[in-house]
Order: sequence, then structure tokens, then C-alpha cells
Amino acid sequence: MANVCIVCKKEIENGNPIKEDAVIRFIKKMKQKTGTLQNNVLMVCDADLETYRKKRQNFEKMAVLHATAAVIVVAILFLAPLLLGAPFSFVNLFFALVLGIMIAALAILSYTPGLETREWAGAKPTLAGALSPQEGKKRETPQEIAKRLSPRHAPKPAQKPAPKAAPKHAPKPAQKAARKK
Ligand SMILES: [Zn+2]
Repeated sequence: MANVCIVCKKEIENGNPIKEDAVIRFIKKMKQKTGTLQNNVLMVCDADLETYRKKRQNFEKMAVLHATAAVIVVAILFLAPLLLGAPFSFVNLFFALVLGIMIAALAILSYTPGLETREWAGAKPTLAGALSPQEGKKRETPQEIAKRLSPRHAPKPAQKPAPKAAPKHAPKPAQKAARKK
């Protein structure tokens, strides 16, 4: 196991560990299945902290942007036909939701995982101070927003419509035969 910086991709001795969130776990699981998992510890080296911070902020912006776009598209696709007088349709709703999920999932293209903030607070107070000089608490907000958003942006297996309920009017031969007699 080696420590690898996610920005410069170099092996480093010490850095700021990346938080293992749902997306990272998903990627690791996929790599495990395809046999390409290298089991590196993902980090950000001190030299790349500023670059990393910009990437992370960009991702947070993109996540919000994509989520907003997805909601708008779903609302338009689903509501517009209803407003125009078309009858309610589950198929319409389903495809609107699928498209919305796809738009939201595109935010993954700029995905940048968060840092393990707890380790900063404890073991590396100077680093935390260097990253956010004045706003220790303020920085929590966008991170928490991204945290709330990230599960939704994790690539999900294609959703299938729920299986149709068994027909209620299944013939009951025994009763019918009895009634006929
Ligand atoms: Zn680096």
C-alpha cells in the first residue's frame, strides 16, 4: 500500500487523507471486480492543496448546478404535458426521472472527493489553519451540501420499473365450478 496524491498522482510519504465516501467506495468495488484495484491510500500532498481546493470547489458548484438542472428538467418534462391537458402517465414520470438522474449523474465528471476533516482537527491543526485561515466553521457548509448531494450523484445501476402486480382477477376454477352446479 502506498500513499498516492490524487492531484499529481505521485507517491507521497505524508499528505492529507481523502475521505472514503460512497463514490470512492463504489469505484473501489468496481476496480476490485475488474482486478485493477491498487489499494492505494488516496491523499492530497501539501504542494497540491491549493489546486485541490479549487477542484473541490468547482465540483461543489457543478453538483449544485446539475442538481438544479435535473430538478428543472424533470419538472418541465413531467408537468408540461399535464398543464397542456394530457392525462397523468407513469411512463412519462418514469422517463422524466431517468433523464433527471442522468443529468445529475453528469456531475461525476468533475468529481473531487472531500478530505478527512477529522484528522485535520486533531493531528494536523496547522494544516487545517493553512487551508482555511479565518473560516473554520464556514467551510463546513459547502462540504455538507456536497456530502448531502454526493450519494445522489453516485452512479446507480439502471433503475427498472417496479414489477407489475399480479392480476387480481385470477380465475378461480374451483369456485366457478361450484357456482355452476
Ligand atoms: Zn500532489
